[in-house]
Amino acid sequence: MGLIVQKYGGTSVANIERIKAVAERVVRTAKQGNKVAVVVSAMSGETDKLIGLAHQVASSPNEREMDILLSSGERVTTALTAMAIEALGHKAMAFTGRQMGIITDTVHTKARIEKITGEKARKALDEGYIIVVAGFQGITETDDVTTLGRGGSDLSAVAIALALNADVCEIYTDVDGVYTTDPNIVPEARKLSKISYEEMFELASLGAKVLQTRSVEFAMKYEVPVVVRSSFNDNPGTLVTKEDEDMEKVIVSGVAYDKNQAKITVIGVPDMPGIASKLFKEIADSNIVVDMIVQNISSDGKATDISFTVPKTDGKKTLKITEGIAKELGAKGVDLREDIAKISVVGVGMRTHSGVAAHMFDTMAKHGINIMMISTSEIKVSCIIGVKYTELAVRVLHDAFGLEKA
Ligand code: ADP
Ligand code: ASP
Ligand code: MG
Repeated sequence: MGLIVQKYGGTSVANIERIKAVAERVVRTAKQGNKVAVVVSAMSGETDKLIGLAHQVASSPNEREMDILLSSGERVTTALTAMAIEALGHKAMAFTGRQMGIITDTVHTKARIEKITGEKARKALDEGYIIVVAGFQGITETDDVTTLGRGGSDLSAVAIALALNADVCEIYTDVDGVYTTDPNIVPEARKLSKISYEEMFELASLGAKVLQTRSVEFAMKYEVPVVVRSSFNDNPGTLVTKEDEDMEKVIVSGVAYDKNQAKITVIGVPDMPGIASKLFKEIADSNIVVDMIVQNISSDGKATDISFTVPKTDGKKTLKITEGIAKELGAKGVDLREDIAKISVVGVGMRTHSGVAAHMFDTMAKHGINIMMISTSEIKVSCIIGVKYTELAVRVLHDAFGLEKA
């Protein structure tokens, strides 16, 4: 008898019909002799709707209250899913983040899970209940509700799988696995039967939202086996696991894009020690994650420009902070651009093969796509481009690296 965690995303619980289909799959899994812990997201569109409501009453809503509001979406689906399972004749019990004992830090709207106590849930599983846990939410030591960042139910699922010592964490979504790129943009994309934690981590952090980045980081750290599958069919999915020799033979395994980026440029900052340190410390202190940073050496030894990217949702807040520092530093000005996208190619094979970056730049040049910023790591190359070229860049790169179906 195994213990399986099954996480169902927004589209998988989008309406009553989908929730009933989830209940059927869950009961089928239990009848095969498994203990089942289900983690559910809010119905698709619900979290966005709640954020919209908050912005109608306040221009920058308090984040503590925001978390109380956002956590309500997942409460609805947990209760409905548990009811649907009971209607099929199986015992089920719904749990909020608090009831599951998901303890997080105090960073509202992007909290980190510190531990999961889960005694009540373990007891329920032992008594034959299917448990249905609200994804995306936790509770601080001082009893405040927190949420785990967009897409955070994936993290809830992986962390619960670890806490319950589950055999596998299945992530059910609207595609039947991890593809060489977003199959909704490139129909020729190929499904991968398995992918390394590292490649999946890069793809996720570079925008492939099929798994939330932090959930992959967590799975990699504790070696939680994760399988991505579709809740709409029974196709075999993609196993996210430790790197093996087969994986290293492939130079590029995927192309990712991210339209949720904003670029900030500080124009004409004095070229002297301490400038970057001051700027990026204040931004980090506001819990904003800076991604790419480019600074040129000034040609006249006096002034230089610094450009960097942040999540689009933090763009305006970062602009405000940066403008304050720019004034203190005597910079000429600050510019925010939101019409950009990051395009990346990823593969563990890049460690031992050269020429990937050159082939990427050449492909973009052939299609008239201008590159604004470049960054590389051992297993990826990323470029910032104009947002209107995103789909074109994904398609031509996917083709250039021979990733399409055989
Ligand atoms: P859920 O609501 O189930 O959490 P998401 O919308 O967060 O689902 O993630 C699934 C989506 O991820 C797919 O519909 C697809 O458009 C997108 N996606 C992006 N890159 C990839 C990829 N490489 N492989 C599969 N799906 C991808
Ligand atoms: N409902 C949350 C979101 O849309 C969490 C999730 O779906 O994973 O971000
Ligand atoms: Mg998701």
